[in-house]
Amino acid sequence: MRPYIVAGNWKMHMDSESGTALARSIHEGLAADPPSDGVSVVLCPPFPVLSSVQAAIAGSGIGLGAQNMHNEDHGAFTGEVAPGMLRAVGCTFVILGHSERRQHFHEDDAFINRKLRAALTHGLTPIVCVGETLEQREAGITEEVVGGQVRGVLAGITAQEMKGVVLAYEPIWAIGTGRTATPEQAQEVHADIRGVLASLFDRGLADRIVIQYGGSVKADNAAELFACPDVDGGLIGGASLKAQDFLAIIRAASTLAG
Ligand code: PEP
Repeated sequence: MRPYIVAGNWKMHMDSESGTALARSIHEGLAADPPSDGVSVVLCPPFPVLSSVQAAIAGSGIGLGAQNMHNEDHGAFTGEVAPGMLRAVGCTFVILGHSERRQHFHEDDAFINRKLRAALTHGLTPIVCVGETLEQREAGITEEVVGGQVRGVLAGITAQEMKGVVLAYEPIWAIGTGRTATPEQAQEVHADIRGVLASLFDRGLADRIVIQYGGSVKADNAAELFACPDVDGGLIGGASLKAQDFLAIIRAASTLAG
């Protein structure tokens, strides 16, 4: 049985004060109504807010994640953050290859693959994002595009390493648009991704890998998306910025996890 992982991607929102308040509210909400054992919760604030969020969630079981990192340990990479730096402030997760990084910062599968290897070397669980544009979906090449991204970001990754990787299917047309994939659309791509994992590794391992869905997940659609057999939780943007909304999404996963 795979766990559900519900992760909040705060993007470039929240300062130390508002981020701490949000993290505290989520901590308190989960203390009052703890999620099922099969549900993990992760908060991914911006870099400058990581330490204060870490303090606010200490002892709660909530994981801390970053939204990006460089693959090198140190060096002349102005503006970048190294994996060891994330570990030092308490991160155990890192989002890699988010479509906003691919689009605005020209990250490609090869670079994401280097980051993925570095994350694993440093004991961080990478949440690796893949997803197609609206044009690609309308052209009927979703499976090809997403399958190609999965193969690209996982190039050279061993079966042992793969056990520490989380994938997130995030159709670009659904991110921040309010337009969510239907459960059928999400399930179809998640099953395709699991098929690619089975061909790269084996069916047993493919069935163990957590594949989150991301793209306008809200309190009122989380349950139907998470009920899909191959959808193992969500990467949540906008709805993770309000404690009550995020807690409701966690509850949806919790109810399904039993
Ligand atoms: C995201 O940031 O990964 C995301 C899915 O955003 P939203 O939930 O706002 O669509």
